[in-house]
Amino acid sequence: MGLGRDLEGLLVRRGEAGYEDLRAAMVWNGLKPERFPDVIVQVASERDVLTAVRLARSAGMRVAVRAGGHNWAGTSVRDGGMLIDLSRLDACAVDTASATAGAQPAARGRDLAAALAEHGLAFPVGHCGSVALGGFLLSGGLGWNPGVWGPACLSVAEIEAVTAAGEAVRCSEDENADLFWAARGAGPGFFAVVTRFRLCLRRLPAAITTSAYVFPLPRVAEVTSWAVEVAASLPPAVELSIMLGTAPQEPGTKAIVVTATSFADSADEAARSLTAFRACPLAERALARVAEQPATFDALFEGAGALWPERHRVAADTHWSMEDLGALLPLLADDVAKAPSGKSLVLANIPPAAVLPDMAFSVLGRSYVVGYAIWQDPAHDQANIRWLREAMGKVAPLAVGHYIAEADLPAAASRSRRSFTPDTWERLQAVRARWDPEGVFQPYLRP
Ligand SMILES: Cc1cc2nc3c(=O)[nH]c(=O)nc-3n(C[C@H](O)[C@H](O)[C@H](O)COP(=O)(O)OP(=O)(O)OC[C@H]3O[C@@H](n4cnc5c(N)ncnc54)[C@H](O)[C@@H]3O)c2cc1C
Repeated sequence: MGLGRDLEGLLVRRGEAGYEDLRAAMVWNGLKPERFPDVIVQVASERDVLTAVRLARSAGMRVAVRAGGHNWAGTSVRDGGMLIDLSRLDACAVDTASATAGAQPAARGRDLAAALAEHGLAFPVGHCGSVALGGFLLSGGLGWNPGVWGPACLSVAEIEAVTAAGEAVRCSEDENADLFWAARGAGPGFFAVVTRFRLCLRRLPAAITTSAYVFPLPRVAEVTSWAVEVAASLPPAVELSIMLGTAPQEPGTKAIVVTATSFADSADEAARSLTAFRACPLAERALARVAEQPATFDALFEGAGALWPERHRVAADTHWSMEDLGALLPLLADDVAKAPSGKSLVLANIPPAAVLPDMAFSVLGRSYVVGYAIWQDPAHDQANIRWLREAMGKVAPLAVGHYIAEADLPAAASRSRRSFTPDTWERLQAVRARWDPEGVFQPYLRP
């Protein structure tokens, strides 16, 4: 371990003071994995990443990587080997002339959005402002305004990475294209350390507007059927999402909430874009309604953040399906009504039909459903995890795969593989064999 002296950052071995606190801090989820790396290296610079990978190679250690710690399953925390913690690499620099930004992997969506807004620019960051770019972009990144901006990885122009050989490389469509292909979707099985992303920026929408209807949960079938119909007539700049869970501001009431967020160039355009949503034939039956409320990215983050409160224990799982949501959500309503924790919820949306370039991320279905068990008391771990698995199991026969960023990877050995098309999975193995022939980087958790 002599090389550790070359690190500017921190190196903590298992058993040393501070190890357990640092290990726990690697994972945002209050539910911490029972896995224990031999060494955690908290790097202080991009150069440190090179040093750490070389150190791991020379010590024969496998490498796992952590950026923002938001993977629900705590994929960065593995048994044995070295965990490289990138949390101090959180800078972003905007270049207005080229409308690009250089961002380090632990930069959070909220911070990037704020830096860009000063220049009238934006990026499809994750729905919750605390999500860091690293794992989000590598997984594909289902961020805000997907109908216009697409999955966030589509706006990654280039990455800088440290490879298993301990070398720094630059990757884009023109340079090391196979590693770049993998970096746009491989998620928590990527086999290099990304130290910097070059992002293509978008114009900040001048008018962001949110509308919502809250209906009693037993109306799930008719509300979903309307939502699917209206989604088809909304312009791409309106993001429609459906939540099954506890009604906002009404702790005792289970509800289905349909939200439409418009990203428009003017207040008039925002109002026009929501015409079909405004004309909801079920509106009279709504328990509550939010009517075209102006919003900022900060307000959007605040709304999303309320769904996933800090310091809670969470189990999450996803399904892509070729069925429409009208066939899926009614199957989940009973489970949502009976969830052991009132904070648990199901989110669903209809991914925009888009032709994506060749990259590891792909939209696997017409509909997307994600379930979250959210609770606080460790004594209730088993009941809540069981609830999530039983609920998502109702949809499983109609599912065609998972989204790697939010799949319940510990649940079954197939979750990682089924997050890709069979061809993509094969190609990922081939690209990994080329860039990491000795298996320096940890494989997927339960591939
Ligand atoms: C509150 C919350 C809200 C979320 N909202 C969304 C959302 O709106 N849309 C969405 O798509 N996802 C969302 N997610 C899921 C999130 O995108 C993924 O969990 C993602 O992995 C988080 O990135 P991270 O860097 O924080 O993850 P980490 O836990 O730090 O890393 C996860 C894995 O990614 C890999 N990794 C991360 N950084 C690097 C790097 N620089 N180089 C190499 N490998 C790396 C590692 O394999 C690591 O195990 C949300 C998660 C939470 C907790």
